[in-house]
Amino acid sequence: TSQKCIKEGQAEIRLASEKVFYNPVQEFNRDLSIAVLSVFTKDYIEEKLARAAKSVKKSEDIVEDVTGNNSEIPVTVLEALSATGLRSVRYAKEVPNVTKIIANDLSEQAVETIRSNIVHNGVEGLIETSHDDACMVMYKHKLPSKRFAAIDLDPYGCPSIFLDSAVQSVQDGGLLLVTATDMAVLAGNSPETCYCKYGAVSLKTKSCHEMALRILLQCIEQHANRYSRYIVPLLSISADFYIRVFVKIYSGAIHCKKTTSKLSMAFHCVGCDNITLQPLGGFKPNPTEKNPQQMKAFLPPAPAVGEHCVHCNQRHHLGGPIWSDPIHDDVFVTRVLSHVQGNPGLFGTAKRIQGVLAMVREELPDVPLYYTLDKLFGRVHLETMPMLTLRSAILNAGYKVSYSHAAKLSIKTAAPAQVIWDIIRTW
Ligand code: SAM
Repeated sequence: TSQKCIKEGQAEIRLASEKVFYNPVQEFNRDLSIAVLSVFTKDYIEEKLARAAKSVKKSEDIVEDVTGNNSEIPVTVLEALSATGLRSVRYAKEVPNVTKIIANDLSEQAVETIRSNIVHNGVEGLIETSHDDACMVMYKHKLPSKRFAAIDLDPYGCPSIFLDSAVQSVQDGGLLLVTATDMAVLAGNSPETCYCKYGAVSLKTKSCHEMALRILLQCIEQHANRYSRYIVPLLSISADFYIRVFVKIYSGAIHCKKTTSKLSMAFHCVGCDNITLQPLGGFKPNPTEKNPQQMKAFLPPAPAVGEHCVHCNQRHHLGGPIWSDPIHDDVFVTRVLSHVQGNPGLFGTAKRIQGVLAMVREELPDVPLYYTLDKLFGRVHLETMPMLTLRSAILNAGYKVSYSHAAKLSIKTAAPAQVIWDIIRTW
């Protein structure tokens, strides 16, 4: 049989059958995942060593040498939906510190392809294949001693059916990497389906790509909370026709109580496209409070359901809940960026990663969602103001402004909507 040969990163993949899924466009997704995992595995080992050292000190029961070398900490990765095995082979060859990878797929043909690619790339010692339903593999690894350091979910379409098992089988401090490609559902074309799949109503709005990221994050958080676990987002990316999030998972019932203040309902005005967020839980530390221990109600004003928009007197649609806390960890993103800058030869899409991460770093972390220049002016049937003019006007009014990596003409700002409309009125 004729075999197609694909080279990507340090892997060479042979595709015997057209039936096994391979998408060259996802190279950016794989490159980015390798960069993230490279930084993550280093942290993960350090964290585990520090914890072990602490517990040894506490019990004074020194049974093992925890100061020694990294290879003592197992760093196991599950690629739950592996197709050709390309991603797993690349993880094996390109991510430092990984001690074992399981490449799983439900399709027999895929598993055969993975096997032959493991041999072809000489990574037999590092990758094991598994021919099973992804959920089954994960449920079999939910005991703490069996959990994975990282789980990669890269399904067709929606990943939510894999989340219940995934959030249980990641180590404390482990990483979950999740792709979703059902952008039409997440971006508001079918809010009912979005609710069924993700437990949140999507909205057709200018900032739908970031909204999609925030719907996926809330979905993972809800699944994790059921098991007294919670997420810490490291990086959340909207690219091409998909979204990809990288979140750490931790255990802690007390932390789960803070979830409601990290989630918000979104009131979307059908007239002027304005969105007002209403946190599900009212309790958040007040930033002006000197004593951060003293928790104070800190609620931005939000319309009651049915109340009309203060800017244009039109109706609201209710969307969400969405994740309204930060979606990236700035320190982590900076380290991934310097890793790629320092090793551009390792990544075919190094330039794109650098561009995207540079934008991600500049995103205002405490401002969910964004306006887009064209939609803002389209709503009032005006010719568009130059981006620079609008940004300067917002800055002059005393508010910060940034782009979002998720949309070209985006404007992220904490300025109240009234300020934006006032600026537009002067145009
Ligand atoms: N991660 C791959 C890459 O980067 O090239 C692509 C994965 S492809 C989008 C999705 C794969 O999931 C297919 O190979 C399909 O056979 C497999 N699959 C679908 N449902 C599954 C399930 N329930 N358990 C395991 N694998 C499944």
